Amino acid sequence: MNSFSYTRAADVAAAVREVAAEGTAFIAGGTNLIDLMKENVSKPSRLVDITRLPLNRIEDLAGGGLRLGALVPNSDTAYHPLVERRYPILSRAILAGASAQLRNMATNGGNLLQRTRCYYFYDVATPCNKRDPGAGCSAINGFNRIHAILGTSDQCIAVHPSDMCVALAALEAVVHVTGKDGDRTIPLAEFHRLPGDTPHIDTNLAKDEIITSIDLPAKGFADHYAYLKIRDRASYAFALVSVAAALEMDGDTIRETRLALGGVAHKPWRNPDAEAMLNGIKATKDHFEAVAETIVRSAQGFGHNTFKIELARRAVIRALQHAVRMGKSA
Ligand code: SF4
Repeated sequence: MNSFSYTRAADVAAAVREVAAEGTAFIAGGTNLIDLMKENVSKPSRLVDITRLPLNRIEDLAGGGLRLGALVPNSDTAYHPLVERRYPILSRAILAGASAQLRNMATNGGNLLQRTRCYYFYDVATPCNKRDPGAGCSAINGFNRIHAILGTSDQCIAVHPSDMCVALAALEAVVHVTGKDGDRTIPLAEFHRLPGDTPHIDTNLAKDEIITSIDLPAKGFADHYAYLKIRDRASYAFALVSVAAALEMDGDTIRETRLALGGVAHKPWRNPDAEAMLNGIKATKDHFEAVAETIVRSAQGFGHNTFKIELARRAVIRALQHAVRMGKSA
């Protein structure tokens, strides 16, 4: 690990000023950054501790939504009574991730900013375009069992590892950020990027911006939802494929559908055309199969991860069936 200096930000404005300096990074829970520093993947020369900033509350919003402070620990978010009652899909997704100890330390803002778990990204002895732009991608022709099948590029096939973000994508959350030019909002769908030819840039957050909150719209799909996570172990493992399915139903007719997939792309993956196929029709397995086929139609495997195409297809169908059967996590 490189040596670095440390300072603590007194307020949001000071944090934004501090982080603009070359080689500077924020630290909050540190559950990903410290690993990256130990492996010499990230080498910040200065850390700005933001843990004392007043971004640690969960508050009702006018209009029925909920504001999740960026520094609220993932555990506190998952177990907050308003989240459990109004946004159970988010609670289930968070609790499907990592371990209890990690969820106690990790913050909501940090969850959005965690980096891929591609093995080559963490192995500085191997070429990686995300770590070292232009170096090449070791995964495309290497061992790529955990890698992406949708939205890939010839530069990078990494996946975003978050469970929380998959549920946030289905809920159409909005990220609030503050920078030197003031405040702005970024829809969750536009927060993370596909790799394209700039795989080293994970998100559309500017270098000198800080996440202040994540706002949940009023609609929480608490009656019909599922978060299905397929992984190698029953706990403390990243998703091979995950599906957040949220339905608004009138009897057995679907009024609105939200589907987001994790473990398959560089960002939580949604397909609006596939979702729209279900709206206004009966919830049947035949219809779910057609939606799943549409989602995986453009998927591409790279050898070791080709099994994910069929896994994703089946997971979509199963998650939708669970959602119809009333909000039981799979
Ligand atoms: Fe690096 Fe992306 Fe290739 Fe992994 S998939 S080695 S992160 S460029």
